Amino acid sequence: MGRRQVIDPRVRAEVIATYGNTCWLGLPGCTVVGEEDDHIVPHSHGGKATVANIRRACKHCNASRQDRVLYGYGARLHMIVCPPGCDAVALDYITEHSRSVDPVVAYSYLADAMGVAAHESRAERVAVGMAWSAAYRSFTTCAEPLDVWCVRSFPSSRRHPRMLDEWLALDYDIHVMDMDYAEAWDHAVTEDERVLVRRWYSLHLSQALVDARQAARRARLTALGLRSDAASVASRPEW
Ligand SMILES: [Zn+2]
Repeated sequence: MGRRQVIDPRVRAEVIATYGNTCWLGLPGCTVVGEEDDHIVPHSHGGKATVANIRRACKHCNASRQDRVLYGYGARLHMIVCPPGCDAVALDYITEHSRSVDPVVAYSYLADAMGVAAHESRAERVAVGMAWSAAYRSFTTCAEPLDVWCVRSFPSSRRHPRMLDEWLALDYDIHVMDMDYAEAWDHAVTEDERVLVRRWYSLHLSQALVDARQAARRARLTALGLRSDAASVASRPEW
């Protein structure tokens, strides 16, 4: 693989001396001790094997991350988490906070574009889910400085059971639509949808929880020299 280029041992030694040998990623399943040299800007995006662009990662995280970009080092992912069936509320939020040219990845939009009624049957929901995942996966490795807005109910999938932890590790912008249970319940039409709404609220997702975890992660990224400060988002540095 192209990513496995040889790193100058002096670069590695300086990275360890400056930023330590603890895995910088901390993705789900992290084994903590740095075993490999990870490119912050992926090698495939033109990232160099310099002290500025190398941090230590455990084998698991390096493989799990693949070429996904850290927020601001390529695409900026904004994850809008809302109760099932409440896409419209999330889309209102996006309209308020995005530029009109920003790409939006939402179930309702994808269903419309594919000519599928997302509420019709399980098979159709699966089809829309596949399109969502494909778009999401592509944008996570996008080198262009796009602001991408993704609407999702459950921050987990079969392949990524701890998606929220991955978003935090890669410093995505995360907004939880804290809606009244009663309001979300009203949006649920079928028994299937009601089951999903109940399941969503049982996760106890909240913006306060996300903010606390994000503050800790951002402090760590700042200490790693990957973020300018804990309050504002670093722009992509010039290597
Ligand atoms: Zn790790």
